[in-house]
Amino acid sequence: MVSPRPPTAPAGFHLLAKPSGPICNLDCEYCFFLSKEALYPGDRFRMSEELLETYIRQLLEAHTTPEVTIAWQGGEPTLMGVDFFRRAVAIAERHRRPEQTVSHTIQTNGTLLTDEWCELFTAHGFLVGISIDGPAPLHDRYRVDKRNRPTFDRVIRGVDLLKRHSVDWNALCTVNAANQDAPLDIYRFFRDDLGARHVQFIPIVERDNDTGFQEGGTVTDRSVDPALWGRFMTAVFDEWVVRDVGTVFVSQFDAALASWVGAPQSLCIFRETCGDALALEHNGDLYSCDHFVEPAHLIGNITETHLVELVASPEQRAFGEAKRDTLPTYCRQCEVRFACNGECPKNRFTLTPDGEPGLNYLCAGYKAFFTHIDGLMTLMADLLRAGRYADEVMGVLAQAGRNELCPCGSGRKTKHCHAGSLPRARS
Ligand code: SF4
Ligand code: SF4
Repeated sequence: MVSPRPPTAPAGFHLLAKPSGPICNLDCEYCFFLSKEALYPGDRFRMSEELLETYIRQLLEAHTTPEVTIAWQGGEPTLMGVDFFRRAVAIAERHRRPEQTVSHTIQTNGTLLTDEWCELFTAHGFLVGISIDGPAPLHDRYRVDKRNRPTFDRVIRGVDLLKRHSVDWNALCTVNAANQDAPLDIYRFFRDDLGARHVQFIPIVERDNDTGFQEGGTVTDRSVDPALWGRFMTAVFDEWVVRDVGTVFVSQFDAALASWVGAPQSLCIFRETCGDALALEHNGDLYSCDHFVEPAHLIGNITETHLVELVASPEQRAFGEAKRDTLPTYCRQCEVRFACNGECPKNRFTLTPDGEPGLNYLCAGYKAFFTHIDGLMTLMADLLRAGRYADEVMGVLAQAGRNELCPCGSGRKTKHCHAGSLPRARS
């Protein structure tokens, strides 16, 4: 344990560890990790046993919160083999303080899962994130293997295994040029065909350059269109809010409700500042964020400097505060800033209407989405403040007269608004 603990150290933080670096068995076209191989030429990209122990010990020492999450990502972390994670669990048990509880999460493409993996996940309560971009034709557009073959069937095999073993899992879906027009096909596929209860949508904003770093002002043609990103989230929200509140959890909607209630924000992209979501490479190099694994944001190596000192370092604190301090005036004056906060700095490379740099590429979509959900988010927030439940919003919408103004505040009659999204049996 570092003594004394730096005063700027956060009580807890999020860290994504990449035990196999960017190495993956697939070759998804939009993947920003694959280009990171160039950062470590000739490397085998495997976290050593010694580093695994150092990392987990330091992670537990660095937290003063009662709960610590050990989060694995890649590349494809399952390439490390089941035993690596068995050892990780055992090391965590050995080093955790009696008052600390440890939870384990892993983000995977799901294609290498077996019964043995699922037994480990069940035994230790892993939360497993599965990367899947919707039904087969949409998923397979970019998510292919190294021989350019589709991967959908292999992912579904993995999901079926997880379900058979009752593993907690969630769907992580990128929204890109190939699937941005199909929000309801995708959402209903997750909810009805896969039985997913937790879904996160990730907009693909991929800079068009040769470095793979966050630089340059143009995006690839795989990237999502800003306005369509807003329409995508709006369409999913309108379906969710009439029938799935409290049974399907979409991380952006949970995050938005937190903003409307004034509760702590779960997603770093919507917080005023960030800097508490870092990335650890296979060799102990610590980067400010998983989206900034590039030399300018390397803050040190945990074999040389304790993790808590790096997290508390002036460079890392400045990285997080820059999210607020570099916000353009256009955002500062925006009506939905309280929910958006300019989203992630990695996407801030366009100009505001009056020419100020630093506007988020996705701004048009976020402005439209947050404005659209304002009425019903306000209603849900009021319900929560009154000690009631957010899911009561579904009853309010179902009972609204079809010729009355819609409770969402759109100014339209309910029959032309959210009644149109109600399940057929109830409309
Ligand atoms: S740069 Fe973006 S993803 Fe990274 S911590 Fe900040 S808000 Fe989160
Ligand atoms: S919606 Fe646009 S203007 Fe408003 S805070 Fe977000 S990025 Fe800034």
